[in-house]
Amino acid sequence: MKVALVGNQNSGKTLLFNNLTGLNQKVGNWAGVTVERKEGIIKKTGIEIVDLPGIYSLSPYTSEEEVSRKFIVTENPDVIINIIDSTSIERSLYLTTQLLELGKKVIVVLNMEDILKKRGYTINVSKLSNLLKTTVVSISALKKTGLTNLIDILSHDKMEDYTENKIYEKDIEHLISEISARLPSEMVEKRFASVKIIEKDERYEEYLTQEIEEKIQEIEKKYDDYAESIIANQRYNFIENLRNQCVLKTYRRSLTEKADKILLNKWAAIPIFIAIMALIYFLSVDIVGGLTVNLIDTFFNGTDSGIDVTILGNTIATIPSTFEGIGPMTKNAILDAGGSEWAASLVGDGVIAGFGSVCNFIPQLMILFFCLSLLETVGYMSRITFLFDRFFKKIGMSGKSLVPFIVGAGCSVPGIMAARTVEDDNEHKLTVTLTPFIPCSAKLPIIALIAGSFFGTFAWLVSLSMYVLAVIVIILSGWILNKFFIKNKTTSFINELPEYHAPSGTYILKDVAGKTWSFIKRAGTIIVLCSVVVWLFASFTWDFHFIDNTHYFIKDSILMGVGNAFGWLFYPMLGFPGEYFQAAASSIVAIQGLVAKEAVVSAMEVITQVEEGANVFATSTFGFFNGITAFAFMTFNLFSAPCFGAIGAMKKEFKSTKQMFKAIAFQTGFAWILASIIGMFGPLLG
Ligand code: GDP
Ligand code: MG
Repeated sequence: MKVALVGNQNSGKTLLFNNLTGLNQKVGNWAGVTVERKEGIIKKTGIEIVDLPGIYSLSPYTSEEEVSRKFIVTENPDVIINIIDSTSIERSLYLTTQLLELGKKVIVVLNMEDILKKRGYTINVSKLSNLLKTTVVSISALKKTGLTNLIDILSHDKMEDYTENKIYEKDIEHLISEISARLPSEMVEKRFASVKIIEKDERYEEYLTQEIEEKIQEIEKKYDDYAESIIANQRYNFIENLRNQCVLKTYRRSLTEKADKILLNKWAAIPIFIAIMALIYFLSVDIVGGLTVNLIDTFFNGTDSGIDVTILGNTIATIPSTFEGIGPMTKNAILDAGGSEWAASLVGDGVIAGFGSVCNFIPQLMILFFCLSLLETVGYMSRITFLFDRFFKKIGMSGKSLVPFIVGAGCSVPGIMAARTVEDDNEHKLTVTLTPFIPCSAKLPIIALIAGSFFGTFAWLVSLSMYVLAVIVIILSGWILNKFFIKNKTTSFINELPEYHAPSGTYILKDVAGKTWSFIKRAGTIIVLCSVVVWLFASFTWDFHFIDNTHYFIKDSILMGVGNAFGWLFYPMLGFPGEYFQAAASSIVAIQGLVAKEAVVSAMEVITQVEEGANVFATSTFGFFNGITAFAFMTFNLFSAPCFGAIGAMKKEFKSTKQMFKAIAFQTGFAWILASIIGMFGPLLG
């Protein structure tokens, strides 16, 4: 038995051919043309198979098409295997309708069922078989599914016999029958030839009589079109009908499409995305944060006025309590046991206060992690990636850069590592440099603290504004870097989207637990260490006397000395002329941020404790800031060099220390300029 393998280019012919034949192949050229001819034997069957050149029709426009037509008509294979890319059956079925006219057994092989399935479609194979009046099977040449079925059908001759399939309008079918009746009886491809005669193909000129020509003219007049295009149109009508009846969206796919009509709507998509993010931050920072921050703070630091429960900055209830707090309790216990004042202060004001200040934020972080994880598992995040792709290309990155940015909202370290999926070198470099600009969860406490302390009801708005600012900063610096430092070329766009899924509970739980735990671990180790260092700097003089506020004062502290060295950098941010201590303390806080961004909060907390004790400055929390300078300072901390962990990740991704320093210099310089502008010009806005 001889089988011809026919199909469009890239339909998977070669792959199927290799799969069917294994090593039994012969490669040569077709007589007279330099078109490859491959023959082989289907494994364990003895069936000869010939891989014909990839073609789109049997109209002889190219030498490939002529070779295929000649082979089928003159060499008379027993079966035609018509392989189709089932993800674009409309294009492929044009050739199929022609093959079905040749009077031979045809097996239509729907290839790439794996991709079709992934895209959420199915093809009703038996219905398609009924409508085409021939054998249809579905396979994946790549995943090797359906191949045994195909071989079984071939080797046991289970193909349906040739049946005439009347796919055209009645008048054309009538003419085809008339022409067929006059063709030589030994001709196999009568139907094919009749159609070619109607199309006035010169290869069948000899059969075109005067009478038939007149009938063709009648039809052309009736349809007001050329015969060739009437035939083509009717083929397409038939194909369209086939597709409508046999290609089915799976239930999920149609849900997905409905959801995307809204969520990916040209106008609504970005506002919806922003609204979703705003809702998430409102829920975590304001609702959950407001309900829990004071509770946890009381646990560590105690209260004598009760625990305030706040929503949107308004106290809605006060839980009566005079809990002393484990910090003060431990402090007293140490003093009672005869410990020195500095040792008690170390444990109470350094270790416990520092650790507690970070723990305050755990409930709201968990909610934040939960919401982001939920968006990820349902498939919304990948849409956002898609949505922003075109836009990201404009600033020299890829839609895939959004993943690092969103992961970076948890922590810059995995964010920077996630940039690995960005293939292009320049896009990758830019993405790594800009990912730390996204406020990570460690920066969230800074935002929450400053927004909560200075902006009351508008805390959520201020929190959101930091993300908006981050986006602006990324766009701006992407544009600057892309324009002046990197000569970029664009790469391909993302064009495939997964379906929406029901969220995976276990994934979300694991994700939230993992992120929360790593946050606590950092809080318990590096942050405590930092707050102890700050405590040390703030509590001792250069010649190592404990600052007891009777003999030694905070103005003599190490902190002040270190702060002085860098303090001038903060003058513009704090508004000219910045107070001496403010600037110095700010610089030490910012330096702490290098170790870990959470440390900014604990450092401020520790400084405030010491400062209050010293009675030198205002007693309200962070009395040395006002709204604008606080905002400016926060801006600096968010956008300057990230923590050491992230710097390490950057170095690893760049594979270059020089590039790492360049990136840090850029980040810090940018942050300084931005914060200084806010500090200096903010007050002018009122
Ligand atoms: P030909 O031009 O018809 O010979 O097509 P090839 O056999 O060269 O295949 C074209 C491309 O489609 C190759 O990259 C194949 O790996 C891929 N391909 C072929 N069949 C399948 C399939 O069933 N599933 C998937 N996912 N890819 C396939
Ligand atoms: Mg090929």
